[in-house]
Amino acid sequence: MSHTPEPHPAVETVDAVALAERLAVEGVRGLQVGWVDNNGIVRSRVVPTGDLEAALRRGVGVTAVFAVFDSHDGITFAHEGLATPSGDVRLVPAVDAPSDVVALAGQPGLAWAHGRQVAADGEPWPYCQRTVLERTVARLADAGFEARAGFEIELYLSREGEEGALLPAHRGPAYSANAVRDAEDFVVGLLGDLEANGLRVGQVHAEYGGAQVELALAPLDPLAAADAQVLARQTIHATARDHGLRASLAPLPGPDVAGNGWHLHTSLLREGRNALTGSGPHGLSDVGRGYVAGLLRELPGVVAVTAPSTGSLLRRRPHYWAGAYGVWGVENREAALRLVPPSRLLGEEVTNVELKACDASANPYLAMAVVLAAGLAGVQEGLTPPEPVQVDPGGLTDEERAAAGVAPLATTWEEQRRHLLASELVREVLGEDLLGAFVACRDADAAWAADRTDAEVLGSLRWLY
Ligand code: GLU
Ligand code: MG
Repeated sequence: MSHTPEPHPAVETVDAVALAERLAVEGVRGLQVGWVDNNGIVRSRVVPTGDLEAALRRGVGVTAVFAVFDSHDGITFAHEGLATPSGDVRLVPAVDAPSDVVALAGQPGLAWAHGRQVAADGEPWPYCQRTVLERTVARLADAGFEARAGFEIELYLSREGEEGALLPAHRGPAYSANAVRDAEDFVVGLLGDLEANGLRVGQVHAEYGGAQVELALAPLDPLAAADAQVLARQTIHATARDHGLRASLAPLPGPDVAGNGWHLHTSLLREGRNALTGSGPHGLSDVGRGYVAGLLRELPGVVAVTAPSTGSLLRRRPHYWAGAYGVWGVENREAALRLVPPSRLLGEEVTNVELKACDASANPYLAMAVVLAAGLAGVQEGLTPPEPVQVDPGGLTDEERAAAGVAPLATTWEEQRRHLLASELVREVLGEDLLGAFVACRDADAAWAADRTDAEVLGSLRWLY
């Protein structure tokens, strides 16, 4: 592809020595460079603050096989391109400005930077998930668009307990002030830590499920939105720890609780204005119609990236607002794609499409990339969506669903795997190498789960994200 941006060492744009001195004065002992693997797990390396300049210039060495680590820290060698333990790549902090290094509010002593993986010689590395998104954003720009995106984050707030059990830290009821009062110290601490870490939230509330809390991150450009999602995880975990709590971000923390959706809202902009808004049905422009139709067409392959894990498949149940059916609807919370249309009150800039079939086990960079590419494909091909589905598809009979062209999304890995491998779009966005590694990880997870109960599988993923 011709779109790969040149990686460049941050030291060209940042005075690393001055930055290191400032961090040291603030008491920061180490820079934690984090990246997200193919299981949605945040991995990291910490370098002493005094070595910041070298770290920004050359990165730190990490093994190439992180791309084929599975969700249980097994290494699968089933993907041909990474079939040996040999090979090293560089994890380079993606720092273009001093503000890209964040002194962590909840972890004084550490600063955070998002990492980009490059080949040992500094060239782009085909398995770097962040580079995939950079490439996709460049493609959007070539087509004359920018994008805005934001994640909603749902979590199960637990008290610390034995064996990592789920011990509800609030007693509900859903969306209630009582629940917020139960969890008040955490909520207030979180608002402060998020702000101090440079993250903007739209709102925080007690969610529907027992002990659930949700925060919605403010919309940003795609790379910043994916970065923000990763930094938000760090912040949530640190704040929870400070209050004797633990947050499960897993798609389904346990068999008997509500799922945690990490719904992804996206929209396209042209010349600074929301390009989805127009005078067509539901307030959509031609671009908006194409965007919805493209996402809808590509949904079976897309969700294999945005809700990829064994836990994601168990979360995908009707009547839980988890996007179990591959349909779109206007403000329909049972649809995998929910259009938030423009309105007199909210204005024309609000129009966006929410993907509900998305969760914390997705790599946020890959999730964002496939979503934007699917929407863009629909725009470029001038697609038109079918009529929106406004009912709960789970309440229809099989015959009614068949007549309405409503199909459930996959609930087994075999089926999801077929869709994933059949998707030309996902293959193009991820590239053959990364797709191969991604599938190998999912295969390894499925093999691990094969002779275990749902409760065991969900328990194993509970605290990973
Ligand atoms: N917890 C639901 C899920 O699994 C979503 C609830 C909502 O729409 O906010 O995605
Ligand atoms: Mg929610």
